[in-house]
Amino acid sequence: DTIPAVLKRTAARWPDREAAIFTSEGIRWTWAEFAARVDRLASGLLALGLRHGDRLGIWSPNRSEWLLTQFATARIGVILVNINPAYRLHELEFALRKTGCRGLVLAETFKSSDYLSMVQRLLPELAKSEPGQLETRKLPDLRDIITIGETQHPGCHRFSDVEALGEAQDRAALDPITARLDPNEPINIQFTSGTTGSPKGATLTHRNIVNNAHFVTHAMLATEQDRVCIPVPFYHCFGMVMGTLGCVTKGATIVVPSEGFDPQSVLECVAAERCTALYGVPTMFVAILEHPDFANHDLSSLRTGIMAGAPCPIEVMKQVQSKMHMSEVTIAYGMTETAPVSFQSATDTPLEKRVSSVGLVQPHLEVKIVREDGSLANVGEQGELLTRGYSVMCGYWGEPERTDEALDADGWMHTGDLARIDSEGYCNITGRVKDMIVRGGENVYPREVEEFLYTHPDISQAQVFGIPDHKFGEIVAAWIVPRNGAELTEDAIRAFCRDEIAHFKVPAVIRFKDSLPLTVSGKPQKFVMRDAMIEELE
Ligand code: ATP
Ligand code: MG
Repeated sequence: DTIPAVLKRTAARWPDREAAIFTSEGIRWTWAEFAARVDRLASGLLALGLRHGDRLGIWSPNRSEWLLTQFATARIGVILVNINPAYRLHELEFALRKTGCRGLVLAETFKSSDYLSMVQRLLPELAKSEPGQLETRKLPDLRDIITIGETQHPGCHRFSDVEALGEAQDRAALDPITARLDPNEPINIQFTSGTTGSPKGATLTHRNIVNNAHFVTHAMLATEQDRVCIPVPFYHCFGMVMGTLGCVTKGATIVVPSEGFDPQSVLECVAAERCTALYGVPTMFVAILEHPDFANHDLSSLRTGIMAGAPCPIEVMKQVQSKMHMSEVTIAYGMTETAPVSFQSATDTPLEKRVSSVGLVQPHLEVKIVREDGSLANVGEQGELLTRGYSVMCGYWGEPERTDEALDADGWMHTGDLARIDSEGYCNITGRVKDMIVRGGENVYPREVEEFLYTHPDISQAQVFGIPDHKFGEIVAAWIVPRNGAELTEDAIRAFCRDEIAHFKVPAVIRFKDSLPLTVSGKPQKFVMRDAMIEELE
């Protein structure tokens, strides 16, 4: 199926049920209203001259306009390019150029960043041009800048004006365009998180993401009765595939607590909107659990949810189960390149397995674990995880070399993650291949050391990585965030590790910090920690 076909079905089936709630904008749409708004915007985009196969970028936090743009572009076959809200000028230019965007939808500001003035600096011609008439040598494909906000800026269209333009068009023009869409053609360019370096634009089709959205929400047993709180960014596959599109496949209500992640808003939103499901990366769940007002919110409506995107510490999963009423919480594993999820636990997976593994492989996907020499690993043996099937991307947009490195001739996606699968099929992700530490000939898997550190009562977050050392080649380093106000020392942590884990795994260098450097999707960036620590030690 195509994305618009799924929305059409849901809107026809439950026209009067709630589709989307944006608490900070005061917006509540039914499915009928939502579908009508999408059509209006799609007509407006057509009137601007956007056509099937064109690329439209979006650079915005979680706002209602994001959601409308996601489904309006899909309605007319325009490829949506999701641009990371953490990007700055240089990266924005790179992404727009790489994907040849014909238009850009942008929030004027987000957090402390002034997006509009960045774009005006990038394109000084904007001030002199009429809306839609932009001509710039820097980005020759770019024509239309659409701003989210009240003010009319030189050279730009206001989002609401594009909607008004659509209102005046004949909406009957849309259906024939939608009918010609091919489920196997690209509809999104989704950038990866940039956890390990510069993000890559994974090119995904309707078929990739519609099916994945279906299977992910199916594993949570989501129905039209569910209300899913989505604090993860829309720009990332967790928000836009597992989140918004996942809700559309089931008719579940999309509940958005705030533009960017904020634990207080999540707590208030879950309580006020009686949400039944909550999504988050592990760092978000930690922030929610440790929030000083945690106990003052009624979370009893919660039933299920998904923790994903980074290693999910067993201790954190246990607390989510016991303190947040999420007895049916699941873990999912995946990557943007596989649209995204390939493993997920089910709500009835035995508790011990549900907290300690990423569950079973999704239907209609193949997986294998291979050794360094490419041979197949045994059951329970660790190696690199490869995946193949309906969800694997077409490639990285405009980067054939990086595509060939990741996708082999037989269609296997090389995930770059280390994993092992037990005899029942449950998978453990043991870390990234690149993060493995080789200390004087011994392999150390950061994940294992992190899991051990998480059992310390005064540790809130722990990240382990290798730093260069002239004697051992690499040594083990740890970046630790103590729990509220706890006093920790290097010696105390090492004493805690002694006799519990092998001596070569015990962190040789430990630093205590107030927080972790994170991507916008909330993932710890080890390369940033590693660089900072190397600099500190020099
Ligand atoms: P980049 O590729 O730009 O460096 P990234 O790999 O973090 O960033 P994403 O596609 O958002 O970009 O994330 C996919 C990665 O996240 C996986 O390859 C894996 O390393 C990690 N991951 C996702 N879910 C889990 C999970 N449940 N457990 C452990 N790791 C996970
Ligand atoms: Mg990656």
